Amino acid sequence: MSRVFNFSAGPAVLPEEVLKEAADEMLDYQGSGMSVMEMSHRSKTYDKIIKDAEQDLRDIMNIPDNYKVLFLQGGASQQFAMIPMNLMKNKVADYIVTGQWAKKAYQEASIYGKTNKIASSEDETFSYIPDCSDLPISEDADYVYICENNTIYGTKFKTLPNTKGKTLVSDVSSCFLSEPVDVTKYGVIYGGVQKNIGPAGVVIVIIREDLITEDTLPGTPTMLKYKTHADANSLYNTPPAYGIYICGKVFKWIKKMGGLEVMKQRNEEKAKILYDFLDSSKLFKGTVRKEDRSLMNVPFVTGNDELDAKFVKEAAEAGFVNLKGHRSVGGMRASIYNAMPKEGVEKLVEFMKKFEKENS
Ligand SMILES: *Cc1c(COP(=O)(O)O)cnc(C)c1O
Repeated sequence: MSRVFNFSAGPAVLPEEVLKEAADEMLDYQGSGMSVMEMSHRSKTYDKIIKDAEQDLRDIMNIPDNYKVLFLQGGASQQFAMIPMNLMKNKVADYIVTGQWAKKAYQEASIYGKTNKIASSEDETFSYIPDCSDLPISEDADYVYICENNTIYGTKFKTLPNTKGKTLVSDVSSCFLSEPVDVTKYGVIYGGVQKNIGPAGVVIVIIREDLITEDTLPGTPTMLKYKTHADANSLYNTPPAYGIYICGKVFKWIKKMGGLEVMKQRNEEKAKILYDFLDSSKLFKGTVRKEDRSLMNVPFVTGNDELDAKFVKEAAEAGFVNLKGHRSVGGMRASIYNAMPKEGVEKLVEFMKKFEKENS
């Protein structure tokens, strides 16, 4: 067996320990004689798996009792519609557009109501986070929406926008569990899990209870109402059972590692190694305004498309895979999520130094 250093933006690297444990339990989960994949989601055994997963997530994130934790399907993208369908009571929402994911969410919500783009960083290819301390928040806005970590562009909100009392909704897909958060500042925190937590297909929604109501937009399908899933503890229908089981293992791994403070410290250390090198390199350079840099996704370029392609190819041959930037921006991107070991980043930087020497 040989494992590469996988810098994919998602689906992305998972802790090796978790994968090994899952492999050990594949044929016989704790004496049940079957795989979790083969198990009724109504069984006692599975009930414990999903309940433990929820409790561990609550512990890690310090989620208050007046928030529900929902394990849903459809990925993060389905939330682009679920959010307006469930939250747009006045049919008005404010969007801060800091990348493609926020833009998609904004466009989707526009199907259901009046959306205002109250800030954007599109003028400079989304390479920064706009000042959100005093935005023209709409008087009748049902919520203010952000994408907290912009996976494609490598920017992150270091301070949350001043929503002037309006409910904050945040897509945290690519920074989920990467550092501590104050859940009480949000109405909804959600994310697809395939960036930092588990297998694609599961989306976790953490939502304040008062936002879960029967009062959804007319025509909202049962499956797209938060209330349906909240009332049934995420077991209204068959949930993505195996994926949730893996998420649960990752939560336990994070707990064992010391929780979100430790994750943050590790992530800062790893990111610093890479950013310090980018800042000192004559060949490579980061593309994001320094104060807005993400700890999770690090885009960089040489300034020469051919050299970029050569780098991506030679890096892959050396065991550093998925470094090609998103198709919409080109260049390179190293995603260094929780499960990427520090060694992976150190070795990548060594390789970049070698490449720089050979190509200048
Ligand atoms: C990947 C990603 C999405 C889309 O996730 P899907 O599960 O593929 O729908 C949305 N938002 C952000 C920030 C992402 O990184």
